[in-house]
Amino acid sequence: MISLKRVSKAFGSIRAVDHVSLEILAGQVVVIQGPSGSGKTTLLRLIAGLELPDAGVIALDDEVVSAVDWATPPHSRGIGIVFQRSALWPHMTVAQNLCFAMNGLSKAEADAHLHEILERVVLTNLRDRYPSQLSGGEARRVAVGRAMAARPKRLLLDEPLTSLDPELKGRLLTAILEYAHETGATVLYITHDREEARAVGHVRLCMERGRIVG
Ligand code: ADP
Ligand code: MG
Repeated sequence: MISLKRVSKAFGSIRAVDHVSLEILAGQVVVIQGPSGSGKTTLLRLIAGLELPDAGVIALDDEVVSAVDWATPPHSRGIGIVFQRSALWPHMTVAQNLCFAMNGLSKAEADAHLHEILERVVLTNLRDRYPSQLSGGEARRVAVGRAMAARPKRLLLDEPLTSLDPELKGRLLTAILEYAHETGATVLYITHDREEARAVGHVRLCMERGRIVG
């Protein structure tokens, strides 16, 4: 479960996230759609622990992870993130970027898991390329695969399909939803695109000027 109670974050005079309360149940897939600048990325960064709230409380499975005087570090939150910009390790190949996120697996398990993820995100042919040798859309797919690689309980996706062509968009969306279904992961999916939000389905919320407006 992901729970926010009256969470706010301002940058100077800009109220990026303004008294947001939200509850996402375990295994739920929730989409937040809103225009550029409405505070979506800041909300996701707050949940991930990359920003700290000015006010309010964030809890994951009933454990407080962010409060005004408390912050659990991002890597201890059991969260996989796909950033708006792909942020791959430039000195690692596609396969190495994916394997880096897998902890505590034997070589054989890691190989099998890598194979499965490469298939899911349609990257098998590009496994030995470096990020500088990938198109923007290919790098996005690596970022989605990498977020899945650690099998997180919670997956936060910030505009993961922007700049992909429609066919790949469909395939990758299916891969994300299948992942969520198979692992029971809780998913928060953020997009400015109304049509994409409809396709992800499940629970849909809208964000405007730092607030969830239903
Ligand atoms: P969205 O992801 O919906 O486009 P953001 O969360 O990125 O929105 O931004 C919300 C508002 O907060 C915008 O007005 C943006 O300019 C501002 N903002 C975001 N991050 C920062 C920052 N680090 N410093 C100053 N302003 C920021
Ligand atoms: Mg954003």
